[in-house]
Amino acid sequence: MQHFVNVILPIPLEKHFTYTVTRDEATFLSPGMRVAVPFGKSKIYTGLVSKIHTTAPEVYEAKEIDRILDEAALVNSIQLKHWQWIADYYMCTIGEVFRSAVPGAFLLESETLILKNEQSNIDETDLKDDEFLVYEALQHQSSLKVHEVSAIIERRNILPVLNRLLDKNVILLKEEIYEQYRPKLVRYVKLGKEYLSEEKLEVLLETLSRAPKQSQVVLALFQLQAESKKPIKINELERASGGSKTVIKSLVDKEILEEYFIRIDRVSYEGADDNEELKLLNEQQETALGDILQNFENRKVTLLHGVTSSGKTEVYVELIENCIKTNKQALYLLPEIALTTQLITRLQEYFGEKISVYHSKYSINERVEVWNNVLHKRPKAQIVIGARSALFLPYSDLGLIIVDEEHEGSFKQFDPAPRYHARDAAIVLSKLHDCNILLGSATPSVETFHNVQNDKYGYARIDRRYGNVLMPEMELVDLKEQIRKRRMKGHFSERLLEEIQDSLSLGEQIILFQNRRGYAPIVECTTCGHSPQCPNCDVSLTYHQYKKQLRCHYCGHHMALQESCLACGRPTLDTKGFGTEQVEQELHKLFPAAKVGRMDLDTTRGKHGYEKIITAFEQQELDILVGTQMLTKGLDFRNVGLVGIMNADALLNFPDYRAHERSFQLLTQVSGRAGRTKKRGKVIIQSYNPYHQILKQVTTGDFNGMYKDQIYEREQFKYPPVNRIIKITFKHKEYNKLNEATDWFAQSLRNVLGSGVLGPEYPPVARIRNQYIKNIIVKMHLEESIVKTKNQIKRIEKSFNAISYYRSVRVIFNVDHI
Ligand code: ADP
Ligand code: ZN
Repeated sequence: MQHFVNVILPIPLEKHFTYTVTRDEATFLSPGMRVAVPFGKSKIYTGLVSKIHTTAPEVYEAKEIDRILDEAALVNSIQLKHWQWIADYYMCTIGEVFRSAVPGAFLLESETLILKNEQSNIDETDLKDDEFLVYEALQHQSSLKVHEVSAIIERRNILPVLNRLLDKNVILLKEEIYEQYRPKLVRYVKLGKEYLSEEKLEVLLETLSRAPKQSQVVLALFQLQAESKKPIKINELERASGGSKTVIKSLVDKEILEEYFIRIDRVSYEGADDNEELKLLNEQQETALGDILQNFENRKVTLLHGVTSSGKTEVYVELIENCIKTNKQALYLLPEIALTTQLITRLQEYFGEKISVYHSKYSINERVEVWNNVLHKRPKAQIVIGARSALFLPYSDLGLIIVDEEHEGSFKQFDPAPRYHARDAAIVLSKLHDCNILLGSATPSVETFHNVQNDKYGYARIDRRYGNVLMPEMELVDLKEQIRKRRMKGHFSERLLEEIQDSLSLGEQIILFQNRRGYAPIVECTTCGHSPQCPNCDVSLTYHQYKKQLRCHYCGHHMALQESCLACGRPTLDTKGFGTEQVEQELHKLFPAAKVGRMDLDTTRGKHGYEKIITAFEQQELDILVGTQMLTKGLDFRNVGLVGIMNADALLNFPDYRAHERSFQLLTQVSGRAGRTKKRGKVIIQSYNPYHQILKQVTTGDFNGMYKDQIYEREQFKYPPVNRIIKITFKHKEYNKLNEATDWFAQSLRNVLGSGVLGPEYPPVARIRNQYIKNIIVKMHLEESIVKTKNQIKRIEKSFNAISYYRSVRVIFNVDHI
């Protein structure tokens, strides 16, 4: 009898691929183990065994596997089910889910890979622009292939760049990565076997009497051993004895000391061992906790709707404590881990070493370690905090999932596939584990609240801040009127300036929010009207004063700012609009004594970029922090008296059916950073349109009003959550081909689906990186079968790809969220 395995390859294939194995291999293998397999003419991929059987494939002759890579399964059956759900629901392949679900180190390939050099300390300012692009990409991805690098820097010949990066120790090259993960080893020392008895030791010390440095080391080691039973690290001994490396080495050479290694984890917590007492919950928190537990009894997904600073985190802590008491695993999902050092510290105070953190800024090795700790259900990974990728770890026994800030858009992955929403995928995961799941937010998403209204989800509410601190006082400032009355200084109204002055003199801190980075989004010549555009994208270039550059925020293209207009040559360049850089600069002029910091994508590069700024603000080294939406997420500052919104209008006018919901969430969240302790905080919102309904709802904290309006609009215009929606995006570098292709696709969809098909239409930015973009939107009633519609769409895609003229057009599906 012949034996076969079905294998999931980490590439977009519709089917699992079948290979032959020997009988012994068939007995040894189990689903979830990795095998290296040949594919195509010469490639080797890492595949994941999904099934072992004896049925030969019908249409091709199965090849042999190259080798088995694991001794036991790396992925469990719940994960495989979860991945399959993600692939089906979000219209991608399970291979794509596999690729993004496991740490890069698990996916060997026979292609050259570019890795980050973890060893070296890199000075970012020393990098040329193309070098920086590669370096930056490696912060987010554990490895890059040659063709990916060439896409990033948009050049075929990338060898010069790679060579420069190698010279600067920024990257490493790997031909084959069978053994990419290396556990970190730490060197320890003990006394050589010969000298374990006291007599021997005495003799030894005698012989060493003429080598005082050496005997000092031996004595120090003896003392360290007496003090603690723990193994002694070489550098500990060095410190304790004042001896040098060479002295220790010569003792090791003489076999007086013995060196040995212990494998340690890189991701370890070095705080106090345990365990701060849990805080006693107040009455409102207790009630909420009771409601949550009640809903959990009924196996319900539950929403904790608590205003900013109401103490939601302490409720989560109780639930986690309950969960780990039963020895189960807990997962705490956050929208963006980089911003949550604060939270991690807070949870570590309670749970100490039981917490592991998992996110994309971690190195390959760190991620592999967390994976293995979860896989083996080790205590140190009993609680995992992570961004969306933490969903994919090999949990075997989840008891609780918390999705904090569930309304956050960044839970949705946009690129590459799987384009999943982590909150929704977490709900499915909770069903697979039959575990509890809590969604938390001060500003729940319309879709989640809709599920509460329909009694699909359970609900718990905290409507007061902890300690009865009042919600901040909100004031709207009419920019039109201020300008007419000539009350503006730069972009600051008189009211905002007064309040800043007051806060500064009281020693309170200030947060200013402007959701645009750079100095100004548009540069324009006042003589001829020319405004520099990105050559690759349909957007104007943003002026960055600090670097004296014009930059494209979509593709990274940049050029030096010219003295005079490139079109007419006159030196009459002016800027329109403003970003965080300009706010910062105006503050320096208006309040020269204040210390001002800025938090946006430009100031938070690198692994610890965010932490540095947040810590500086926490330590009150800064008086004023200017920032983009990064400021809104879950930060708990003690001394912020004032929050200023520089301009609310850009948010409100964003062309998206969620713009109003998002504005409400963003403005409420950023306001929530004010006055979190005793004294009531103040919020000033500047707008040209202060009578906008959403601004009223923000200032009065009228969540229900906002929800009612939004649901009404979504019903009128057939948007989620009262309808389903799939966005199909098409990309191609030729304008005409894209138009023809999308017309063909839309017509085919209409033939099958009828009136629910909208478009094709160009999005507001219709060309990015030289690719034109067009969207088709498919709307469905909730009663329609989404599976059937997806299959119909997939079938049309197949016919589309069969037309050779269209094949080069990229087709991207986004289910539910656009
Ligand atoms: P949220 O997550 O709802 O914004 P937090 O959990 O950050 O609110 O709580 C706000 C502040 O109140 C925090 O500094 C927290 O330590 C404090 N706090 C909340 N609940 C309690 C409690 N039961 N006892 C003592 N302090 C609490
Ligand atoms: Zn561009």
